[in-house]
Amino acid sequence: MYDIIVCGGGSAGVSTALFAAEGGKKVLLIEQFGELGGIITSDCLGYVMDALDKKGFVEELRDNLGTVIVPESQNFKFDTEQMKYYLERRLIDAGVEIMYFTKVCGAEVEDGSIKSIRVMHKSGMESLTAKVYVDCTGDGDLGCFAGCGFDFGNDDGEGQPMSYLALVTGVDREEVKEYTNNHPDVPNQVGKKNLLAELAKANFVPTYLQPSLSYIRDGVFNFGINHQYGRGIDHKTLTQATIEGRHEVFRAVEALRSLGGKWRNLSVIATPTYIGIREGRRLHGEYTVTVQDMIDGARHSDSVCRAAFGVDLHGKTGYTSEGVSVVPYDIPLRALKSKDIKNLYMAGRCISGEHLAHASYRVTGNTFTMGQNLGKYLAKNV
Ligand SMILES: Cc1cc2nc3c(=O)[nH]c(=O)nc-3n(C[C@H](O)[C@H](O)[C@H](O)COP(=O)(O)OP(=O)(O)OC[C@H]3O[C@@H](n4cnc5c(N)ncnc54)[C@H](O)[C@@H]3O)c2cc1C
Repeated sequence: MYDIIVCGGGSAGVSTALFAAEGGKKVLLIEQFGELGGIITSDCLGYVMDALDKKGFVEELRDNLGTVIVPESQNFKFDTEQMKYYLERRLIDAGVEIMYFTKVCGAEVEDGSIKSIRVMHKSGMESLTAKVYVDCTGDGDLGCFAGCGFDFGNDDGEGQPMSYLALVTGVDREEVKEYTNNHPDVPNQVGKKNLLAELAKANFVPTYLQPSLSYIRDGVFNFGINHQYGRGIDHKTLTQATIEGRHEVFRAVEALRSLGGKWRNLSVIATPTYIGIREGRRLHGEYTVTVQDMIDGARHSDSVCRAAFGVDLHGKTGYTSEGVSVVPYDIPLRALKSKDIKNLYMAGRCISGEHLAHASYRVTGNTFTMGQNLGKYLAKNV
């Protein structure tokens, strides 16, 4: 019997598990893949937003990963391989038990509490028990299997698009600086517009109309040109989106290479383990983070994170803020506590919030911080 089982080893899951274990709890972390970080590593993202004013774990990561601070922003870029390794060592040293290649696929509920969860791995099916469970699957898988209420997408049930990213190399940072979105000499939006125009020269129109080429390190760039529509919580949609996303990445690289010159050696060095899902289930909590909270700059005595990132709603023409001006606002612990199940918490992008609020708090400066403070709380209260 564990004190706490954390399901999902993304930014939120890692930090929840780490701080609960450092507070003396017996913690199991379950992850479907063989690496930690979730979208920021498994989707080749390498980018932490809403980060520079965050204390604690985010600050530790920024200072230990040889990061690139993005000019005029609250953001930093990092090497995804270093991040995976750093997170893994950190959890091992803190005494977290990690169970890789294990998928959470069911829950047994009795008297409004989860009694055990069912997982599937190489050895077959297994039931695992803990005093408290934390859903950090991003998509609210555990909450869904336990019968919790949830919302998905906007009022029409449409969620944000997914994106299949990639890491590319073979170009010189200075030679391509006017097409990048994190060079000190080039404003973010200018780089994106130039890259779109460059792709058009090669007769290529990407599905994401604000494409980005972002420097990470030593000739390695993140390449984001893809949008995939549909519900990322449906396995058929995920399969199709992955196949189309990968195809688009390779075709876009080929198109730029066909222009020759500075692009002639551009090549893909890594594609995602998992397509990036912006929005999954938002599980119902004791509190729901609202658009009004963001407009008012809400304050809560049980705050686990102060989010400052604007609304970032992706769609067919790129992304918009939907006219919402965000005043830094608090996310209360109650938004991380399930409304339906007594011993279930959540952290990360599957917490309880409205569609537009989710479009702000989902970035990783916030998901790491929510996890950190939930982990500390559970260490004292379980
Ligand atoms: C394309 C894209 C671009 C983005 N750009 C940025 C950006 O530039 N900067 C930024 O800060 N944020 C960005 N975001 C948002 C941010 O990356 C995510 O919201 C954040 O990483 C979510 O963290 P999380 O831990 O909640 O979930 P995730 O990162 O999704 O982690 C969930 C983890 O749970 C695991 N898992 C899922 N289901 C199961 C299961 N059933 N059993 C076991 N394990 C499971 C997954 O493998 C994963 O490791 C972007 C998101 C996307 C999709």
